[in-house]
Amino acid sequence: MHYLASEKRYANMLYRRCGRSGLQLPAISLGLWHNFGSEDVFSNARDILLHAFDNGITHFDLANNYGPVPGSAEETLGKVLKQDMSAYRDELVISTKAGYYMWEGPYGEWGSKKYLVSSLDQSLKRMGLEYVDIFYHHRPDPDTPMEETMAALDLIVRQGKALYVGLSNYSAEETQKAENILRELGTPCLIHQPRYNLFDRWVEDGLTTVLDKRGIGCIPFSPLAQGLLTDRYLKDVPADSRMAKAHFLKESALTDVKRRAIVELNEMAQQRHQSLAQMAIAWLLCNKTVTSVLVGASSTKQLDNNLGALNNVEFSPEELSKIDTICQP
Ligand code: NDP
Repeated sequence: MHYLASEKRYANMLYRRCGRSGLQLPAISLGLWHNFGSEDVFSNARDILLHAFDNGITHFDLANNYGPVPGSAEETLGKVLKQDMSAYRDELVISTKAGYYMWEGPYGEWGSKKYLVSSLDQSLKRMGLEYVDIFYHHRPDPDTPMEETMAALDLIVRQGKALYVGLSNYSAEETQKAENILRELGTPCLIHQPRYNLFDRWVEDGLTTVLDKRGIGCIPFSPLAQGLLTDRYLKDVPADSRMAKAHFLKESALTDVKRRAIVELNEMAQQRHQSLAQMAIAWLLCNKTVTSVLVGASSTKQLDNNLGALNNVEFSPEELSKIDTICQP
């Protein structure tokens, strides 16, 4: 059926400025790492994407290797863009990345100019796009000179294949160095995409200070710790869950200590009249460094639940310290 975006799509979403740039991102963005590949159900993927946009989620995050099979999440997005959303391209911020293994031989991963330029060309083809809004280097490369990787990002912007560039999984020191190079080249670093959630706070050990100082936005990935910070695993491991289906979230992650923490956090969330997922997202949004929280979802129901986080993003100092005690016993 022909898709027409909801007229109310901008009514409830909050938009936050990305660092000191001109770009605003929705407080909640949608990632396509899982649930959008060729092995997933296309109609469900399409429903989630359209539902997201209908609710003000203007930012979709991808990478060359998202699937499975690698590349197929970009194809899924390309298909939905073509059949449903082509009229809305200028209302969308689409990002992709390169850095992890994508194809055989010496040019299929890491950070050479050869790899990054070729990979983005492939991504654009899969999505049927002329440009992406944000292109990321997905992980630091210990062997390629950072000057070459940053020059590739700068080149890609100058070629018009990306509007902005970002870094992912770079440490505080690496980010500082990369930002210096990019600034000298005249292509500022827009955004950093680190893993950041209640259970994993490495970014607070230097990275957020660098981002604040340099005016770089921050979009945390796996804000729900891949589903651990939801009601999914309170009792057991559901058959349709990521833990049961994909090898990225192993059962060994659900230790007794973790499970106890999840149960306690869930009780706290209930006292705040929120789901645990909502509390985990709200906690990130409390942090001024965070531009947008990059969630995943396997259904529109989960996405709706996550959007509900925006109804209560305030925490008392007592709540914050209780959360810290539960998460870092
Ligand atoms: P989350 O931590 O948000 O985990 C998403 C998963 O949690 C869903 O697939 C679903 O799992 C479960 N879930 C989500 N909402 C709810 C809810 N309300 N109630 C119950 N369960 C829920 O994020 P991801 O790990 O998926 O990462 C998000 C995005 O971040 C990715 O899509 C990608 O764009 C990006 N990313 C970037 C990386 C990088 O290196 N730059 C690395 C990893 C991710 P289930 O399938 O079990 O239903």
